[in-house]
Amino acid sequence: MKIIDGKETAKTIKQEIAKEVSAMIDNDDKTPHLAAILVGDDPASQTYVSAKEKACKEVGFVSSIYRLPAGSSEKKVLEVVSFLNHDDEVDGFIVQLPLPDHIDENKIIQHIKPSKDIDGFHPVNIGRMTLNLPSYISATPFGILQLIERYKIETEGKRVVVMGRSHIVGSPMSILLSRKTYPGNATVTLCHSRTKNLKQIAKSADILIVAMGKQGFVTADMIQDDAVVIDVGIHRIPSDKTKSGFRLVGDVDFDNVSRKVSYITPVPGGVGPMTIVSLLMNTLKAAKNEIYSMPE
Ligand code: NAP
Repeated sequence: MKIIDGKETAKTIKQEIAKEVSAMIDNDDKTPHLAAILVGDDPASQTYVSAKEKACKEVGFVSSIYRLPAGSSEKKVLEVVSFLNHDDEVDGFIVQLPLPDHIDENKIIQHIKPSKDIDGFHPVNIGRMTLNLPSYISATPFGILQLIERYKIETEGKRVVVMGRSHIVGSPMSILLSRKTYPGNATVTLCHSRTKNLKQIAKSADILIVAMGKQGFVTADMIQDDAVVIDVGIHRIPSDKTKSGFRLVGDVDFDNVSRKVSYITPVPGGVGPMTIVSLLMNTLKAAKNEIYSMPE
């Protein structure tokens, strides 16, 4: 069994990005600039945005945060989106989700200029991704693709089972791995809460990607020998062995499943650390006009 080390891979990618940024600066090119809109004071969202800011600093990007009070109107948020759409200093930006209930997330996302939509949530980017055209791929699926690539995991002709059909993980993952490219060319089954014979389907997987949000759901009896298992789930559980009083676990029963597999992502230290790095990679692409070289 081999561990797919997301922490180490993320570190390597950050070093690669930092090197590229320093070459851009030496060349008098513009420094990549990522902006974030944060509405309200949800503690988890604040932590995510601070982590993004810190990561930008580590690789030499410029970052800026637009903080709006929780009671801001939808119109106000749309205005900030419009401002960033037109600000030539900013290469790409994100609107930190979730937004307060009175704001329509879809409306906000659809207002982002696709060429600056580094979260890859705009329908234009999802459409382009589906058609295998250049696009921003959302952070978690992009991070998983990076892990598959960097660990040289064969996907062609493989049977992939994705458990969970969220718009941010499961659904794009199933599209990406069925595309006619590498990583891809796999035969993909997408499972959800209405799927029958889930266990049997999981057991048929050469590559199993689990994004269900169900702690320890995937057990060893659901796994084929030598399968590759990618665990996206994150759960905080109490622990008396850590200073913080909690530890993180995934959707997969790691201790037992890891004995059967060829590769597995641990939680923590697997998919999680790749997410912010993917956002940095998308920002770099935006700064270099790699995705939208033609006017929209
Ligand atoms: P989500 O929106 O919570 O959706 C869960 C999916 O799993 C749904 O499609 C649901 O089916 C399916 N599901 C739930 N229970 C099921 C069951 N018993 N049998 C079959 N399918 C079932 O998912 P998400 O946002 O992708 O998050 C999933 C997990 O990944 C969470 O733990 C989240 O914290 C974590 N996550 C981690 C990262 C990271 O960076 N590592 C990023 C994003 C999310 P229905 O569609 O039928 O309801």
